[in-house]
Amino acid sequence: TQTLLEVKDLQTHFFTESGTVASVNGVSFSVEKGETVGIVGESGCGKSVTSLSLLQLVSEPGKIVGGEILFDGENLLKYSKRKMQQIRGNKISMIFQEPLTSLNPVFTVGSQISEAIRLHQNVDKSEAKKKAIEMLKKVGIPRAEKHFYSFPHLLSGGMRQRVMIAMALSCNPQLLIADEPTTALDVTIQAQILKLMKKLSEEYGTSIIMITHDLGVVAEMVDRVIVMYAGQIVEQDNVFNIFKNPKHPYTKGLLNSTPKIHQLKDQLESIEGNVPIPSEMPTGCKFHPRCPFAMDICRNQEPPLVQTGDGAEVRCWLHGDEEVINL
Ligand code: SF4
Ligand code: MG
Repeated sequence: TQTLLEVKDLQTHFFTESGTVASVNGVSFSVEKGETVGIVGESGCGKSVTSLSLLQLVSEPGKIVGGEILFDGENLLKYSKRKMQQIRGNKISMIFQEPLTSLNPVFTVGSQISEAIRLHQNVDKSEAKKKAIEMLKKVGIPRAEKHFYSFPHLLSGGMRQRVMIAMALSCNPQLLIADEPTTALDVTIQAQILKLMKKLSEEYGTSIIMITHDLGVVAEMVDRVIVMYAGQIVEQDNVFNIFKNPKHPYTKGLLNSTPKIHQLKDQLESIEGNVPIPSEMPTGCKFHPRCPFAMDICRNQEPPLVQTGDGAEVRCWLHGDEEVINL
């Protein structure tokens, strides 16, 4: 396989009046061509900020303060604003939870997709329209020629998300970042949308980063899983091992709080305790106040991310004997 994206020691901080918050605190991972990687964790773990950082869409007072984002070998953090704009929506696309906030209410869906196509491809209006209708058909919008002229608010949530996928894929991106793309939808529609994304990514060879709190989505969609807690990666492994042999107590907690992996609902609510608030970040292992296995060392010293023999990465003193790869 070939590496498409390599993130090295990414640091995104928020500079607030009450102090600096390291929302992304030294995150490193890679995505292979055609691979689907899931980033999971509770709200506030840094997964959305990580994905926004990739496109340099973090808003004030947030700022990327360190690291590298190598996309096809080039560091995006060295790109000018203008060059970055050419990457967004073209080589890297993003879809969000609520398409209404990303679709403009005063333009028809067709004109928005056509516009996106024309922004990045050298085609005339009628060619762009043809391509837009083709994409609407691809994502399963019925009577695509008619719905080309529909306004976003007249479509159902599921249809709007299909439109977003059509728009995101219309420029044939190499990487699609999907942040909770189906959370707002009901279970049946959710399953349809995930299936559609999977099918299209296979057809186009698109890599996907799927941000989700939902392990059902993970089981359904991804090849590899990154588990984040308090701005750091605490475990990384292939999807099979994550479900079969989770190593980090947080990952185990996430799985235990998932009664059935196909029950697509808010599932990570039942680990005891809460994600730490930034001004009261625990010493040592950031998970220790909630961890049933916490030892003395956990309260005093932060565990490093280590590589286990079977290819996983885990940040926990219970796995401290293996090779240290990242402090
Ligand atoms: Fe629990 Fe200690 Fe591992 Fe942290 S390092 S997850 S507190 S056992
Ligand atoms: Mg989020």
